[in-house]
Formats: sequence, structure tokens, C-alpha cells
Amino acid sequence: MSETVRVRFAPSPTGDLHLGNVRTALYNWLFARHMKGAFILRVEDTDKERSTPEHCENLMDIMTWLGLKWDEGPRVGGPHEPYLQSQRTELYEYHLVRLKERGLVYPCYCTEEELDLERKRQMGRGHMPKYGGKCKKLTPDEVKKLDADGKTSVLRFAVPPGEIVMQDEVRGEVTFPDDQLGDFVLTRSDKSPTYNFTVVVDDALMKVTHVIRGEDHLSNTPKQILLYEALGFTPPKWAHLSIIKGPDGQKLSKRHGETSVESYKAKGYLPDAFLNYLALLGWAPKSGEILSLDQMAAEFDLTHVGKSGAIFDPVKLHWMGSQYLVKMSLDDLTRAVLPYLADAQLFTREQARARFDWLKQVVDVVRTSMGCFSDVTKETFFFFSDELHFEPAQSEEMKGQKTLMEAFHKAFNGISEFNGDNFLQAVKEVGKIAGVKGKALYHPLRLALTGREDGPELVRIAPLLGKAEVLKRLMIWTVDDVKTIK
Ligand code: GLU
Repeated sequence: MSETVRVRFAPSPTGDLHLGNVRTALYNWLFARHMKGAFILRVEDTDKERSTPEHCENLMDIMTWLGLKWDEGPRVGGPHEPYLQSQRTELYEYHLVRLKERGLVYPCYCTEEELDLERKRQMGRGHMPKYGGKCKKLTPDEVKKLDADGKTSVLRFAVPPGEIVMQDEVRGEVTFPDDQLGDFVLTRSDKSPTYNFTVVVDDALMKVTHVIRGEDHLSNTPKQILLYEALGFTPPKWAHLSIIKGPDGQKLSKRHGETSVESYKAKGYLPDAFLNYLALLGWAPKSGEILSLDQMAAEFDLTHVGKSGAIFDPVKLHWMGSQYLVKMSLDDLTRAVLPYLADAQLFTREQARARFDWLKQVVDVVRTSMGCFSDVTKETFFFFSDELHFEPAQSEEMKGQKTLMEAFHKAFNGISEFNGDNFLQAVKEVGKIAGVKGKALYHPLRLALTGREDGPELVRIAPLLGKAEVLKRLMIWTVDDVKTIK
């Protein structure tokens, strides 16, 4: 029987989870579900300065909101507790002793300045910087003396010679040539263990079978492979995911817009839509683009994960969001957008209680333009407020439409039942009399009523605005000096 798959997501709680983290978490989760294995959450909080309990709680809240439940980890426990690295110090110490006993580590007393100088010299000669191994040559007596003198030291792993070849599930065979890796640090001067050491101890003890993570960790993998060997553990299978890029082809960063998942939650993206979009950043499912988490899990496999970097496209995310919003019932959608309207002070909860049916119709008119709940404010603004903003060019255009606006005003005023049909009838009659049609007829009317260049059909908007409001918005453009009124 083949071994049960065990994967982990191992975030460092040093900030908000970003899109790349969550895509990694999602692929691990999908792989675990697909293989009927276990998904572990392990918090890598050894960086004492930058890790905070708040970030740790937040990241778990976000994972929960997304529906990426973990089988083992903080909050749920499991057979390999604790799942916070800050609580696993004794385990690291134990395995460090094993490495010491085998003579595979040595103390290094080089100062930051010395290391910096060495790095600069190497780079000046066009070489890749790496530790030259000066302290490896220290005799036991010299070490004793340096310790007695109170010199601080780190512990380095003595890298054996030879190239390292690894098999990556996404990238195929990757070779790290001999002589590129310097002896790397396992514990800092305050004795705290470094990432490369703790990750190996934990992945091995937690029996992780596949390490699926971002390609930014590819260069750490040879170090980790050596530590597996040194500790007598069997290495896992590796899968390094390409980085997510912005539309300009550069690594996705703040300057491309929001990168924290928190911000997409705040905007009101549905978690399933958000995950569906992230899943496509590097994986091409065979059965189309819109898939539930269960469908994705049924189909997911690492062989269809691409090697080249995926591009994050906010327009496509918006599209994906809209695909999920249209599936919501109108009642649910209206209730969901209400907090956003209330926050934007467009419509209070009391108003919504009194006019819920009207609000539902408003939401229905704009729902296909929305990718997330917060889009409701910009899409429906003109329903709630007559403080429409006109660009100078638009004002100029409207000032030239005085006669047409007067004609609309007169025609609409004469409608007794202000519904869509009668509105449309009146618009057509005005067009006939004025001798204008198409864009020339509808565009100025749209601008006057909504302050926008485009949007849903006016025949749906006007009845919801109501006759009095429509007349008021036309009136502004029928007087001679618009400026004094506006
Ligand atoms: N804590 C590391 C990170 O957040 C984990 C890397 C790994 O998956 O090995 O980048």
C-alpha cells in the first residue's frame, strides 16, 4: 500500500497573508484532498522580531474564511503537536546535538563586517557569494579560547562536496552544481534555529511526504536535502510553484495593487470565487474554469501545474467574482451588500428595512456588473444620491442639450404611470419629434439621470429613480445658467 500523502502549509506570521501564500495553501489543500491525505498547518514563528500572535490568529481566520480547513495544526491539534515552531525548541536542540555528535557543525565567530567584506570581494571577482569556511579550520583550543573571551558565534553546517540533483514534481530535474553552497547557518548567535534547519526537522517529524511551496524556496532545497541526509531522514517529494507576476511581468507586489487576502475579503469577494481564481494561476483544469472546491480537489494534480509564472489579472478576478455573485439569490445578495451601502452612507439599515423590495430591484439592475459586494457602491451611487459629478467636458455637452432635456421633462411629466414601458414610449416620441435617435438621444439622458457614460439600461433605472427624481435631474439642464444651480 502506498504511503498516505501528508502536506503542509507553513506560513510565517510576519504580516498579512498574500495571494502567493494562499495559492500555495490552496494547492497543498487540493493535493491533500485529491490524494485523501492530510493537510497540516504549521506556523513558522521563529523570527521573534517580526512574528506576532495577531498575525498568527489573522492567518488562521483567513484560512477559515476561505474554507481551507486543516486536519492538523493550531486550534485543531494533532499527533505532532505543537504546531507552532516557537514551541518546538527542544526538538530542534535534540536534533542539533545529533548533528554535533556526527561532527557536521562548527561554530563560526566571523563578524557581520567580515562576512560583508568577504561577500563584496567575491562579487567583485564575479563569483557567487558564499561563506569561505574560515572558522571551519579553528582548532578545539582556539574555539575554547574564543568562547572564553566571550566571542559570540553561530553554528554552521559543513556542506559536503558534490553536486546535488533533485527531482521536482513541477520543474523536473534540477541540478545544483558542486561548490556553490557555502557552509550555512543552523543557529544564530542567540542560539535560535534558522528556517532551513527547523523546516527539515519539522517536515521530517511531521512525516510530510510532499513539500509544495513557492519557487522562491528552490535555492533552499539543496541545503534542506543535505540536512535530511545528515539527520538520517528520508527527503519528501518537492514541488516548487512559479511566482505570481503582475500584468507587467514583474513579481507581484504592492505597486500592482492589493496583494493581501484580507483586502479582498474586505472588498467582499466570495471566498469560493477568490479561490477559484487563484487556482487558475498556474493550474489548468481540464473541465473548464469555473469549479467548486470539491470539483477542483477531484481534478487537481501536480503534473498539470505550469512551470512558467502566472499573471495576476484583476479584471479576470472581477469576472470570476461576478460568475459567483450571479448565482446568489437576490435576497441574499441584497442583504450581503447592505453593510457596504451603509458604510458608504448611501442607504441605512432602517431605510433598507422600509424599502427592501426597492433595494432588491436596484441590486438586480447592477448585479451583473459586480465582481464583489463593495462594487455595489460605485454601481448604484446615483440611485441614492443626486450629487452627480460631471467632468467639465460632460457639463459642456449637457449645456448644449437644453432643448432635448426640456422635451424629455415635458414628456415624462405627462406620464401618469411612470413604468418602463411608458418611459420608453416617451423617449421614443421625444426622439421622433426632435429628430434624434440612438446614442445622440440616450447618451445625454443617461448622463443627466446617472452622471455616467454607461451602465444598465435606462428603462430599468428610470422607474426605480421615480418620476419626481427623474424630473428633478432633467430640470437642472433646462435652465440657462447651469452653474448657479449646480
Ligand atoms: N515559512 C516559510 C515561508 O513562509 C515556509 C517555506 C516552506 O514552505 O518551506 O516562506
